Amino acid sequence: MTETQIQDPLLPDLVRWRRHVHQHPELSYHESGTAAYVEEELRKLGVTDISAPTPTSRVADIRGLAPSPAGVRPAVAAIRADMDALPVPEAEGLDFCSVNPGVSHACGHDAHVAMLLGAAKILMKERPNFSGTVRLIFQHAEESAPGGAKELVAAGVMKGVDAVIGLHVMNDPIGQIRVCTVPAFSTASDCVWATITGCGTHASMPEGGIDPVMIGSEVVMALHTIVSRNISPDHFAVVSPTVFQAGEVINAIPQKARIGINIRTKDPDDRVRIHDCVEALIRGIAEANGGTAAFEWLAGCPAVIQDPEMIERALRVARETLPPGKAAVGTGMSASEDFSYFAECAPASYVILGGGNSEEGYPHRNHHPAYRFSEAALPVGARYEAALALDILRNPLTSGR
Ligand SMILES: [Zn+2]
Ligand SMILES: [Zn+2]
Repeated sequence: MTETQIQDPLLPDLVRWRRHVHQHPELSYHESGTAAYVEEELRKLGVTDISAPTPTSRVADIRGLAPSPAGVRPAVAAIRADMDALPVPEAEGLDFCSVNPGVSHACGHDAHVAMLLGAAKILMKERPNFSGTVRLIFQHAEESAPGGAKELVAAGVMKGVDAVIGLHVMNDPIGQIRVCTVPAFSTASDCVWATITGCGTHASMPEGGIDPVMIGSEVVMALHTIVSRNISPDHFAVVSPTVFQAGEVINAIPQKARIGINIRTKDPDDRVRIHDCVEALIRGIAEANGGTAAFEWLAGCPAVIQDPEMIERALRVARETLPPGKAAVGTGMSASEDFSYFAECAPASYVILGGGNSEEGYPHRNHHPAYRFSEAALPVGARYEAALALDILRNPLTSGR
C-alpha cells in the first residue's frame, strides 16, 4: 500500500478531523477545545448519546438497531482514543502546524481522535445491522500522571463493557497493523526516590562522619543486580537509577544523597518483587555502613495486559480487513500506556498501526518535534476499530468477564 493508492471514501473526513485536531493541540487535562470539537462532529454524524464524565473527555454510545436474540444480553464493545498533546514545540513544515506555541501532537493522538470519529461514521451507517452498543471513549490526559484512563474508570465508563479496543500509531510500515501476541503489551512504570542519610563531616576527617555519597555509589551498582538475580531471563524488566544528587561543597562530606530510580516491568509479580528488592537492598547497604534510607514511591500505571481471546480476534479482524501481508505479529513495547486501567476492567487488545517508517519518509519517532505519520493509515485504523467492535457484538467473547 502506498499513500497514492489510498482511495478510501472515508479519507477526506479523516483528514479534515485529523488536521483540525493537529492544528489545535491541547495539553493533558486541558483538552476542552478538542473535546468540544469531538462532540460537535459526533452530533453531525447523528450520534446523540454523548456524555462528559470529566470536563475534558467525552464518551458516546452508539446502539445497534437490530433486535438481539431472545434471552441474550446485548454486548457492549468499547473503543478508546486518547486526545492530549505534548509540551513539545512542533518542527515547521506542515501547513496545518500547531497554532498553540510550545504544544504539539507529537504522539499522534490527533490520528487516534480522527480514527475514532471515522469508526463512529462507519458504525452509524451499520446501526440497522447490529445489536448491542459500541462505546466510544475519547480520553483526556494519557501523557500525564495520574492519567485520564484511571479517572474515567472511576467515573464508571467501563461498567457493563464486555471488551475494550486500543490502538497507537507508530513508526511501522504505512497501513500495517501489528498485533502483539503475548498478553503483556506495555510496561508498568514506577518511580522511587531513595534518600540516604549519613552524617556530614569535613572531607579530611571521614572517620567522624557517615558518607552518603559512598553509600549511594554502592547502591547504584547494586541496583543493577536486581533484575539479573531476581527476575526470570524470559521476563522483561528494567531498573534504571536515573538521578543521583549529593553534596555541594567540595571539601565536605554531605549529610544526604538522593537517588531517583525508574522501574519498568510487564509481570505484576515482578513488579512487587522489584519493589521489595529495591527497598531491602538500599536499606541493607545504608545500614551496613551506619546510615539510614527512606523511600518515596510514585506508582505509575500498570502494564497493559491483553486477553488471549482478544489477541486472536484482533489478529483475525486485521487479516480480514487489511490487504494481504499488512497484518503483522510482533512484540509489545517498553513504554507505558494508561490504557492498562481499561484493560483491568474488561478483556482487551491493543495494537500498533503503522504510520510510516524511515524508508517511507517518516524517520522521527513519537514525541519528536518533527514526528509525522501518513494520513493514508487513517482509514485502516478506523475500519479496523469498527470491524473489531462489530465482531465482538456479533460473536460475544467466550472468556467473558
Ligand atoms: Zn506519547
Ligand atoms: Zn501516545
